[in-house]
Amino acid sequence: MLKLNMIETHAHIYDDAFDEDRTQMLERAFESGITQIWMPNCDHTTIDGMMALATQYPHVCRPMMGLHPTYVKADFEQELYIVENWLDKMTISAVETPSVATPSNTTTSASINNTSSTSINNTILTDGSSVPQFVAIGEIGMDLYWDKTFVEQQKEAFLIQCNLALKHHLWIDIHCRNAFWEVVELIEKVGDTQLTGIFHCFTGTLEEAQKAIDLGFKLGIGGVATFKNGGLDKVLPYIDMKHIVLETDSPYLAPVPYRGKRNEVAYVPLIAQRVADLMQVSVEMVASQTTANALSLLPSMQQIH
Ligand SMILES: [Zn+2]
Repeated sequence: MLKLNMIETHAHIYDDAFDEDRTQMLERAFESGITQIWMPNCDHTTIDGMMALATQYPHVCRPMMGLHPTYVKADFEQELYIVENWLDKMTISAVETPSVATPSNTTTSASINNTSSTSINNTILTDGSSVPQFVAIGEIGMDLYWDKTFVEQQKEAFLIQCNLALKHHLWIDIHCRNAFWEVVELIEKVGDTQLTGIFHCFTGTLEEAQKAIDLGFKLGIGGVATFKNGGLDKVLPYIDMKHIVLETDSPYLAPVPYRGKRNEVAYVPLIAQRVADLMQVSVEMVASQTTANALSLLPSMQQIH
């Protein structure tokens, strides 16, 4: 298969499923053309593993910060306190150590300094405010598939995290399962056009795709696109490619022919090929357009590629 540069916008590479061969799995990913892997957080238990990878592979394995809806329980406020703490900690650090990243060391589009492995990197925007090293607030949203016990808490956690995203100039990576219109209602309630992001693992209808696009969001397309009854054949041919990004959600949802097995980042090209087939364009075009789409979510000074 052709080696094309692409960004993996959603992978849980810190998951236990990769404990035996994480280094080799990442080598296969880079070998397949993946230049960046964006990592969604779940709750406080996943932060250490995620940050370790972010430190080991700076600017390549890039973390998000947030509380996943299926991890929203009675103690969700405590979890959100941890999320907020991480965001604030990194932002305060930027103010205290402005030399970490300043316009003077800006090259063309990238300005994040690669300092020591333990330091915290920040992006300083042209207006002087700063953005944490996290690429997004995620994954956040609503999941009414497994358990509806904490539906009200899920809504509250989502709204709070949307506001954190706005405060920190970050986009949101949305997980919604059996809850598309509930999430839409919440986004409309926030009512801020600055709020943008990705509907991760989008598997909805054309009407839902259109609504997400109208709200200014992109659709994260993964392994489900390769499933016979995945439904994306009724969506992708009818939307503009500028609205989609690629992801695996590994270790879950492996594309055909690995369906049911452990998913990994190196399978992104299989998804890209399927998207190309459904949209009747070249896979090169899918790779370059989805990469540009993903980078467009980041503030310009964070658009390292
Ligand atoms: Zn996920």
